[in-house]
Amino acid sequence: MGEGWEVVSRLRHPEGVGWEPHGCTFLIMPHRNATHCPLCGSSLEAADVEGRQRPRCTGCGFVYFFNPASAAAGLVLDAAGGQVLLVRRRIAPYKGSWALPAGYQEIDEEPQAAVQREVREETGLEVDVQRLLDVVWVGDDPRKPANVIIYLCKPVGGELRAASDASEVGWFPMTELPEDIGFGNRELIARFLREE
Ligand SMILES: [Zn+2]
Repeated sequence: MGEGWEVVSRLRHPEGVGWEPHGCTFLIMPHRNATHCPLCGSSLEAADVEGRQRPRCTGCGFVYFFNPASAAAGLVLDAAGGQVLLVRRRIAPYKGSWALPAGYQEIDEEPQAAVQREVREETGLEVDVQRLLDVVWVGDDPRKPANVIIYLCKPVGGELRAASDASEVGWFPMTELPEDIGFGNRELIARFLREE
């Protein structure tokens, strides 16, 4: 067995995959724990494929490529433009911290639609997407590393209420953000302020 496979095996958690409610203190994607082919059910083995060790099916040859996910986050500003919408995270990672409303993109969903949906689900607000702000790499989400597309958004309706992955929601002056902010979102907001 090659080195890459050993790392995957060593990281395997006794309780199963690195998924809530077992906590997210170890860096494993659930499908990194896969032992069997999702297509035919045969066992996977480590193989050299395109320059690194990857799980490959012993039956049909399917190769499990581990790619980052795609996610979208909204930097939602109030009408005056001085306050930013943050949610307090109900789940790990960064459980209890504040963050921009965000979430994974569905396979059949454009990223602009993903950010509108996530903001609606977590904060109750309907938003218009104004423009693309940034694309950031979030490598410390134990569920799956992701490229996160950040959109500048403005509210156009709805009623503020926390739901889904958010336990609280609130508007914060961009110069008086709460202490505890996850995902490097403080730096992202600071960069936005500098560049606007
Ligand atoms: Zn297979």
